[in-house]
Amino acid sequence: MSRKSKPKSRIHKLAVDSIKRIDYLCDQKFKTMTNRTFTMIKPDATEKGHTGGILQMINKAGYRIVAMKMTHLSKEKAGEFYAVHKERPFYQELVDFMSRGPITAAILEKENAVEDFRKLIGATNPANAEEGTIRKIYAASVGENAIHGSDSDENAAIEGAFFFSKLEQF
Ligand code: GDP
Repeated sequence: MSRKSKPKSRIHKLAVDSIKRIDYLCDQKFKTMTNRTFTMIKPDATEKGHTGGILQMINKAGYRIVAMKMTHLSKEKAGEFYAVHKERPFYQELVDFMSRGPITAAILEKENAVEDFRKLIGATNPANAEEGTIRKIYAASVGENAIHGSDSDENAAIEGAFFFSKLEQF
């Protein structure tokens, strides 16, 4: 009896190990396929009451909200966020605009999050944005263009950490 049960238990162990291995591989695949981007609904869209409409488009596009808050950037914080544009002629205008009123900042998760989100928001200048994109629908000009979307995985991580601690990401 015990002699018969030994091979069975070895097979059982092998099967369990195989299932664990498959689970692990699926988990790894899921991790590599899922990534994050960062967004801000800008002051112009907030003022015009477009926050709900924009969030609905984001939800419909399949993004999971990992973190979200409404906040009002100081000039100093807006300048820091857009420091990469410091030498550009529109920098001061951009800082004034982004600190003009409340924004909604969020971290979003989906496969291919960064690239797909850039498609969803459309070109920087709404005049060049494709029909159906957030900027085409809600933005007024190249400066006041309703929404921000990170342009790389690296920047998405930096920008998300600018607004949210690890404890605020779910
Ligand atoms: P984005 O990645 O599409 O947001 O574009 P950029 O990184 O090039 O620019 C950052 C932000 O600066 C844009 O979203 C606009 O709000 C603003 N911006 C860009 N170009 C101009 C411009 O020519 N004039 C003004 N006033 N603002 C601009």
